[in-house]
Amino acid sequence: MNDKRLRHLLGIEELDRDTAERILELAGTFHEVVRRPVRKVPTLRGKTIINLFFEASTRTRSSFELAGKRLSADVMNVGGSSSSTSKGETLRDTIRTLDAMHADVVVIRHSVSGAPHYISSRTRASIINAGDGMHEHPTQALLDAFTMLRHKRRIEGLTVAICGDIAHSRVARSNALLLGMLGAHVRLAGPRTLLPHRADAWGADVFDRLEPALADADVVMMLRIQQERLGACLLPSLREYSQQFGLNKRRLALARSDALVMHPGPLNRGVEIAEDVADGEQSVILEQVESGVAVRMAVLYLCANEPERPIEG
Ligand code: ASP
Repeated sequence: MNDKRLRHLLGIEELDRDTAERILELAGTFHEVVRRPVRKVPTLRGKTIINLFFEASTRTRSSFELAGKRLSADVMNVGGSSSSTSKGETLRDTIRTLDAMHADVVVIRHSVSGAPHYISSRTRASIINAGDGMHEHPTQALLDAFTMLRHKRRIEGLTVAICGDIAHSRVARSNALLLGMLGAHVRLAGPRTLLPHRADAWGADVFDRLEPALADADVVMMLRIQQERLGACLLPSLREYSQQFGLNKRRLALARSDALVMHPGPLNRGVEIAEDVADGEQSVILEQVESGVAVRMAVLYLCANEPERPIEG
């Protein structure tokens, strides 16, 4: 099947259901590829991908890098402090410079919500949002949906409880939008100070206690407290937070017995998730990481490939 090129992936908000489903389907193909003894296809040979990360990242940056390399593209990493923005260059000039080098895709992470949208109208390259401030993290939501699909074979009708610091989480927003679009029932749970003002606008049920949100859930997704984005005084203490909102075995037992435990990472063990739950039988946290490479290959393929070039090899 020949695919239409995806101009940019800025957020789930801009994505239609058909494209989301196509990404998930293609990710299935690439998941096979990354499990082969030779984990590489020549599909993006001659294409250039630039990872432009202005915020810390382990998983997302290395996952995009690996995804690009598995597709045989030339991949270059540019970090925030090592880039010229630390010398006062504007984001606009940085992107114009990368454009002049004929980048096909720029993957960007930035602490300012909307930064990828801003540059997308000022570049020839396709822009992929790898996390913008408190706004969106679309590939995280896609890899989470892909992981759920591998286990549950469907998204439609699943009850997914997303718990923790919802207000500051781009992962929560992108997941709520994507899962809602694909027909899941989304629950958001957290202390009132960490719930967004208009959470109902996300099409989800909102809880200020963990227990009712976990009841009979098919998937429990825990989130890290975004200390770097937290204003003062939103939380009395981490200990208290953990006592009331941490996922432990006793609380997990409220969900379905086959519920999946997910977390986008990095984990704060003993805060939002107990050690034995993070490493327990229901945890698919490392599978999420594996799914990430396949999903990002699919997104890069749709952004950088010539429409007439199928997946070869
Ligand atoms: N890695 C995810 C993000 O970049 C989640 C987190 O940092 O807590 O948003």
